[in-house]
Amino acid sequence: MKKHEYIWLDGYKPEPTLRSKVLVTDEDAPPDWAFDGSSTQQAEGGNSDCILRPTSEYVGPLSSDKLVMCEVLSLDKTPHPSNTRRRCEGLVTDEWWFGYEQEYFFTNPEDGTILGWEGGTPRPQGDYYCGVGAGNVVGREISETHMDACLAAGIMIVGTNAEVALGQWEYQCFGKGLKAGDDLWVSRYLLQLVAEDYGVSVSFHPKPQEGDWNGSGMHANFSNNQMRNSGSKELMYAICEKLKAVHSEGIAEYGSDNDMRLTGLHETQSIDQFSYAPFDRGASIRIPIYTVDHNWNGYLEDRRPASNADPYRIMAHIVGTLSD
Ligand code: MG
Repeated sequence: MKKHEYIWLDGYKPEPTLRSKVLVTDEDAPPDWAFDGSSTQQAEGGNSDCILRPTSEYVGPLSSDKLVMCEVLSLDKTPHPSNTRRRCEGLVTDEWWFGYEQEYFFTNPEDGTILGWEGGTPRPQGDYYCGVGAGNVVGREISETHMDACLAAGIMIVGTNAEVALGQWEYQCFGKGLKAGDDLWVSRYLLQLVAEDYGVSVSFHPKPQEGDWNGSGMHANFSNNQMRNSGSKELMYAICEKLKAVHSEGIAEYGSDNDMRLTGLHETQSIDQFSYAPFDRGASIRIPIYTVDHNWNGYLEDRRPASNADPYRIMAHIVGTLSD
Protein backbone atom coordinates (compact mmCIF):
# COMPACT_ATOMS: atom_id res chain seq x y z
CA MET A 1 0.00 0.00 0.00
CA LYS A 2 1.07 3.57 -0.68
CA LYS A 3 0.66 6.63 1.52
CA HIS A 4 -0.10 9.71 -0.56
CA GLU A 5 -0.08 12.97 1.39
CA TYR A 6 -2.40 15.44 -0.39
CA ILE A 7 -1.67 19.14 0.14
CA TRP A 8 -3.86 22.09 -0.87
CA LEU A 9 -4.61 25.75 -0.20
CA ASP A 10 -7.76 26.57 1.75
CA GLY A 11 -10.12 29.51 1.25
CA TYR A 12 -8.92 31.68 4.14
CA LYS A 13 -8.46 35.39 3.53
CA PRO A 14 -6.51 37.50 3.04
CA GLU A 15 -3.99 34.67 2.67
CA PRO A 16 -4.69 30.96 2.29
CA THR A 17 -3.19 28.45 4.67
CA LEU A 18 -2.10 24.92 3.90
CA ARG A 19 -4.13 21.78 4.54
CA SER A 20 -3.28 18.11 4.10
CA LYS A 21 -4.62 14.62 4.49
CA VAL A 22 -3.29 11.16 3.71
CA LEU A 23 -4.76 8.64 1.28
CA VAL A 24 -3.71 5.01 1.73
CA THR A 25 -4.17 3.15 -1.53
CA ASP A 26 -2.67 0.47 -3.74
CA GLU A 27 -2.73 2.95 -6.63
CA ASP A 28 0.67 4.27 -7.61
CA ALA A 29 -0.69 7.38 -9.31
CA PRO A 30 -2.63 9.58 -6.87
CA PRO A 31 -6.24 9.87 -8.09
CA ASP A 32 -8.56 12.86 -7.77
CA TRP A 33 -9.90 13.05 -4.24
CA ALA A 34 -12.43 15.16 -2.31
CA PHE A 35 -12.64 17.05 0.97
CA ASP A 36 -15.12 18.95 3.11
CA GLY A 37 -14.96 22.49 1.77
CA SER A 38 -17.29 23.77 4.50
CA SER A 39 -14.43 23.33 6.98
CA THR A 40 -11.92 25.29 4.91
CA GLN A 41 -14.06 28.26 3.84
CA GLN A 42 -14.38 26.83 0.36
CA ALA A 43 -18.03 25.65 0.38
CA GLU A 44 -21.34 25.91 2.20
CA GLY A 45 -22.38 23.07 4.51
CA GLY A 46 -25.28 21.92 2.36
CA ASN A 47 -23.14 21.35 -0.70
CA SER A 48 -19.74 20.95 0.78
CA ASP A 49 -17.59 18.65 -1.36
CA CYS A 50 -14.63 20.12 -3.20
CA ILE A 51 -12.30 18.22 -5.53
CA LEU A 52 -8.56 17.78 -5.08
CA ARG A 53 -6.78 17.38 -8.39
CA PRO A 54 -3.07 16.45 -8.17
CA THR A 55 -0.80 18.90 -9.98
CA SER A 56 2.67 17.83 -8.88
CA GLU A 57 4.23 14.98 -6.93
CA TYR A 58 7.24 14.85 -4.63
CA VAL A 59 9.12 12.08 -2.89
CA GLY A 60 7.78 11.97 0.65
CA PRO A 61 10.75 12.89 2.86
CA LEU A 62 9.03 12.12 6.17
CA SER A 63 6.28 9.55 6.79
CA SER A 64 4.48 9.35 3.41
CA ASP A 65 5.59 7.81 0.14
CA LYS A 66 4.55 10.85 -1.85
CA LEU A 67 3.62 14.46 -1.27
CA VAL A 68 0.88 15.40 -3.72
CA MET A 69 0.33 19.10 -4.33
CA CYS A 70 -3.24 19.67 -5.51
CA GLU A 71 -5.39 22.37 -7.00
CA VAL A 72 -8.96 22.77 -5.79
CA LEU A 73 -11.93 22.37 -8.13
CA SER A 74 -15.60 22.96 -7.43
CA LEU A 75 -18.03 20.05 -7.68
CA ASP A 76 -18.67 20.82 -11.37
CA LYS A 77 -14.88 20.44 -11.97
CA THR A 78 -14.35 24.13 -12.74
CA PRO A 79 -11.48 25.88 -10.90
CA HIS A 80 -12.54 26.97 -7.41
CA PRO A 81 -12.34 30.77 -6.83
CA SER A 82 -9.46 30.12 -4.38
CA ASN A 83 -7.47 28.38 -7.12
CA THR A 84 -4.82 31.02 -7.92
CA ARG A 85 -2.63 28.46 -9.67
CA ARG A 86 -4.94 28.55 -12.69
CA ARG A 87 -3.98 32.18 -13.33
CA CYS A 88 -0.47 30.96 -14.18
CA GLU A 89 -1.44 28.13 -16.49
CA GLY A 90 -0.55 28.83 -20.10
CA LEU A 91 1.19 32.03 -18.95
CA VAL A 92 4.14 31.06 -16.77
CA THR A 93 6.13 28.82 -19.11
CA ASP A 94 9.34 27.04 -18.14
CA GLU A 95 11.51 29.78 -19.64
CA TRP A 96 10.52 31.86 -16.62
CA TRP A 97 12.81 31.10 -13.69
CA PHE A 98 12.04 32.21 -10.14
CA GLY A 99 14.17 32.29 -7.03
CA TYR A 100 12.09 33.06 -3.95
CA GLU A 101 13.83 34.28 -0.78
CA GLN A 102 11.38 33.11 1.85
CA GLU A 103 11.82 34.87 5.21
CA TYR A 104 9.90 33.85 8.31
CA PHE A 105 9.98 33.78 12.11
CA PHE A 106 9.85 30.80 14.44
CA THR A 107 7.29 31.38 17.20
CA ASN A 108 6.02 29.72 20.35
CA PRO A 109 2.60 28.15 19.66
CA GLU A 110 1.28 28.92 23.17
CA ASP A 111 1.38 32.70 22.89
CA GLY A 112 2.81 33.62 19.49
CA THR A 113 5.99 35.10 20.95
CA ILE A 114 9.09 34.85 18.81
CA LEU A 115 11.45 31.97 19.53
CA GLY A 116 14.35 33.28 21.64
CA TRP A 117 12.32 36.25 22.96
CA GLU A 118 10.86 34.44 25.97
CA GLY A 119 12.95 36.46 28.41
CA GLY A 120 11.88 39.81 26.91
CA THR A 121 13.17 41.98 24.11
CA PRO A 122 16.60 40.79 23.00
CA ARG A 123 19.64 42.93 22.22
CA PRO A 124 19.22 45.20 19.18
CA GLN A 125 19.80 43.82 15.71
CA GLY A 126 23.39 43.39 14.62
CA ASP A 127 24.69 40.01 15.75
CA TYR A 128 21.89 37.85 14.44
CA TYR A 129 22.22 38.03 10.64
CA CYS A 130 24.11 34.89 9.57
CA GLY A 131 24.92 34.65 13.25
CA VAL A 132 26.84 31.91 15.00
CA GLY A 133 26.73 30.88 18.62
CA ALA A 134 24.15 30.50 21.38
CA GLY A 135 22.57 33.87 22.09
CA ASN A 136 23.02 34.95 18.49
CA VAL A 137 20.85 32.32 16.81
CA VAL A 138 17.89 30.07 17.66
CA GLY A 139 16.16 27.37 15.64
CA ARG A 140 19.10 26.32 13.50
CA GLU A 141 18.32 22.61 13.78
CA ILE A 142 14.77 23.19 12.49
CA SER A 143 16.08 25.20 9.55
CA GLU A 144 18.60 22.50 8.64
CA THR A 145 16.11 19.64 9.01
CA HIS A 146 13.72 21.57 6.78
CA MET A 147 16.38 22.10 4.13
CA ASP A 148 17.21 18.38 4.10
CA ALA A 149 13.53 17.44 3.87
CA CYS A 150 13.04 19.76 0.88
CA LEU A 151 16.12 18.43 -0.90
CA ALA A 152 14.96 14.85 -0.31
CA ALA A 153 11.56 15.77 -1.76
CA GLY A 154 13.14 17.17 -4.92
CA ILE A 155 12.68 20.86 -4.11
CA MET A 156 15.66 22.98 -5.00
CA ILE A 157 16.57 24.87 -1.85
CA VAL A 158 19.68 26.78 -2.89
CA GLY A 159 20.57 28.30 0.47
CA THR A 160 19.53 29.21 3.99
CA ASN A 161 20.63 31.79 6.52
CA ALA A 162 19.75 33.21 9.91
CA GLU A 163 18.16 36.61 9.29
CA VAL A 164 18.50 40.09 10.75
CA ALA A 165 16.15 39.62 13.74
CA LEU A 166 16.60 36.95 16.43
CA GLY A 167 14.34 33.99 15.60
CA GLN A 168 14.09 35.01 11.94
CA TRP A 169 15.32 32.78 9.11
CA GLU A 170 15.41 32.64 5.35
CA TYR A 171 15.69 29.99 2.70
CA GLN A 172 15.97 30.41 -1.04
CA CYS A 173 13.86 28.22 -3.30
CA PHE A 174 14.55 28.00 -7.04
CA GLY A 175 12.23 26.68 -9.74
CA LYS A 176 11.28 26.97 -13.39
CA GLY A 177 7.78 27.84 -14.58
CA LEU A 178 4.75 26.82 -12.59
CA LYS A 179 6.85 24.37 -10.58
CA ALA A 180 8.45 27.33 -8.81
CA GLY A 181 5.09 28.13 -7.23
CA ASP A 182 4.26 24.52 -6.40
CA ASP A 183 7.68 24.01 -4.83
CA LEU A 184 7.45 27.14 -2.70
CA TRP A 185 4.09 26.09 -1.29
CA VAL A 186 5.33 22.57 -0.55
CA SER A 187 8.47 23.99 1.07
CA ARG A 188 6.26 26.07 3.38
CA TYR A 189 4.28 22.94 4.15
CA LEU A 190 7.41 20.99 5.06
CA LEU A 191 8.70 23.85 7.18
CA GLN A 192 5.57 23.81 9.33
CA LEU A 193 5.63 20.01 9.50
CA VAL A 194 9.26 19.84 10.59
CA ALA A 195 8.75 22.61 13.15
CA GLU A 196 5.79 20.67 14.64
CA ASP A 197 8.29 18.05 15.81
CA TYR A 198 10.04 20.73 17.86
CA GLY A 199 6.81 22.19 19.26
CA VAL A 200 7.50 25.37 17.30
CA SER A 201 5.25 27.39 14.97
CA VAL A 202 6.12 29.40 11.89
CA SER A 203 4.98 32.98 11.32
CA PHE A 204 4.85 34.17 7.73
CA HIS A 205 3.50 37.56 8.80
CA PRO A 206 5.53 40.37 7.19
CA LYS A 207 5.92 42.35 10.43
CA PRO A 208 5.41 40.20 13.53
CA GLN A 209 7.38 42.62 15.70
CA GLU A 210 6.86 46.35 15.42
CA GLY A 211 9.67 48.73 16.22
CA ASP A 212 13.28 48.66 15.12
CA TRP A 213 13.10 45.07 13.88
CA ASN A 214 13.22 43.78 10.33
CA GLY A 215 10.07 42.39 8.84
CA SER A 216 9.85 39.36 6.58
CA GLY A 217 9.71 39.55 2.83
CA MET A 218 9.83 37.16 -0.03
CA HIS A 219 12.08 38.79 -2.60
CA ALA A 220 11.26 37.34 -6.00
CA ASN A 221 14.21 36.93 -8.35
CA PHE A 222 13.06 36.35 -11.91
CA SER A 223 14.31 36.00 -15.46
CA ASN A 224 13.31 34.76 -18.89
CA ASN A 225 15.35 33.64 -21.91
CA GLN A 226 15.87 37.14 -23.19
CA MET A 227 17.04 38.50 -19.83
CA ARG A 228 19.49 35.63 -19.38
CA ASN A 229 20.89 35.46 -22.91
CA SER A 230 20.43 38.76 -24.74
CA GLY A 231 20.15 41.20 -21.89
CA SER A 232 21.10 44.85 -21.90
CA LYS A 233 20.82 47.82 -19.60
CA GLU A 234 18.00 49.10 -21.80
CA LEU A 235 16.09 45.82 -21.51
CA MET A 236 16.41 45.66 -17.72
CA TYR A 237 15.34 49.29 -17.30
CA ALA A 238 12.41 48.79 -19.70
CA ILE A 239 11.25 45.81 -17.60
CA CYS A 240 11.44 47.91 -14.43
CA GLU A 241 9.45 50.68 -16.11
CA LYS A 242 6.72 48.22 -17.12
CA LEU A 243 6.42 46.99 -13.55
CA LYS A 244 6.46 50.58 -12.29
CA ALA A 245 3.42 51.41 -14.43
CA VAL A 246 1.40 48.75 -12.58
CA HIS A 247 2.99 49.17 -9.14
CA SER A 248 -0.26 49.43 -7.19
CA GLU A 249 -1.69 46.36 -8.96
CA GLY A 250 1.49 44.52 -8.03
CA ILE A 251 1.26 45.52 -4.37
CA ALA A 252 -2.31 44.17 -4.34
CA GLU A 253 -0.94 40.77 -5.40
CA TYR A 254 2.12 40.76 -3.14
CA GLY A 255 0.71 39.79 0.24
CA SER A 256 -1.30 41.37 3.07
CA ASP A 257 -0.11 43.72 5.85
CA ASN A 258 2.78 44.59 3.58
CA ASP A 259 2.32 48.28 4.47
CA MET A 260 3.68 47.40 7.92
CA ARG A 261 6.90 46.17 6.31
CA LEU A 262 7.44 48.46 3.28
CA THR A 263 8.16 51.61 5.25
CA GLY A 264 11.33 52.84 3.60
CA LEU A 265 13.33 51.53 6.57
CA HIS A 266 14.92 48.12 7.19
CA GLU A 267 16.10 47.58 3.62
CA THR A 268 12.77 48.40 1.99
CA GLN A 269 11.27 51.05 -0.26
CA SER A 270 8.01 52.72 0.89
CA ILE A 271 4.89 50.94 -0.29
CA ASP A 272 3.65 54.02 -2.19
CA GLN A 273 6.89 54.55 -4.07
CA PHE A 274 8.64 52.62 -6.81
CA SER A 275 12.34 52.76 -7.57
CA TYR A 276 14.98 50.59 -9.19
CA ALA A 277 18.75 50.71 -9.23
CA PRO A 278 21.81 48.49 -9.31
CA PHE A 279 22.78 47.02 -5.93
CA ASP A 280 20.16 49.05 -4.01
CA ARG A 281 18.48 47.18 -1.13
CA GLY A 282 16.29 50.23 -0.50
CA ALA A 283 14.79 49.98 -3.97
CA SER A 284 11.60 48.24 -5.10
CA ILE A 285 13.61 46.35 -7.69
CA ARG A 286 17.32 45.71 -7.21
CA ILE A 287 19.51 45.05 -10.21
CA PRO A 288 21.95 42.47 -8.82
CA ILE A 289 25.71 42.71 -9.31
CA TYR A 290 25.55 39.34 -11.11
CA THR A 291 23.48 40.90 -13.88
CA VAL A 292 25.66 43.98 -14.25
CA ASP A 293 28.84 41.88 -14.17
CA HIS A 294 27.53 39.59 -16.89
CA ASN A 295 27.12 42.41 -19.36
CA TRP A 296 23.48 42.88 -18.26
CA ASN A 297 22.55 39.22 -18.84
CA GLY A 298 20.87 37.76 -15.79
CA TYR A 299 17.91 38.42 -13.53
CA LEU A 300 16.14 41.08 -11.47
CA GLU A 301 15.11 41.04 -7.83
CA ASP A 302 11.61 42.31 -7.03
CA ARG A 303 11.93 43.18 -3.34
CA ARG A 304 8.29 44.12 -2.79
CA PRO A 305 6.54 40.78 -2.10
CA ALA A 306 5.72 40.05 1.55
CA SER A 307 6.65 36.80 3.26
CA ASN A 308 2.98 35.75 3.24
CA ALA A 309 2.47 36.35 -0.49
CA ASP A 310 1.06 33.65 -2.76
CA PRO A 311 3.81 32.75 -5.27
CA TYR A 312 1.21 31.97 -7.94
CA ARG A 313 -0.12 35.53 -7.72
CA ILE A 314 3.42 36.97 -7.84
CA MET A 315 4.25 34.98 -10.97
CA ALA A 316 0.97 35.83 -12.66
CA HIS A 317 1.59 39.54 -12.03
CA ILE A 318 5.21 39.64 -13.21
CA VAL A 319 4.83 37.38 -16.23
CA GLY A 320 1.44 38.83 -17.14
CA THR A 321 2.84 42.38 -17.03
CA LEU A 322 5.96 41.53 -19.02
CA SER A 323 4.16 39.40 -21.61
CA ASP A 324 1.88 42.23 -22.74
MG1 MG B 1 16.79 38.12 3.44
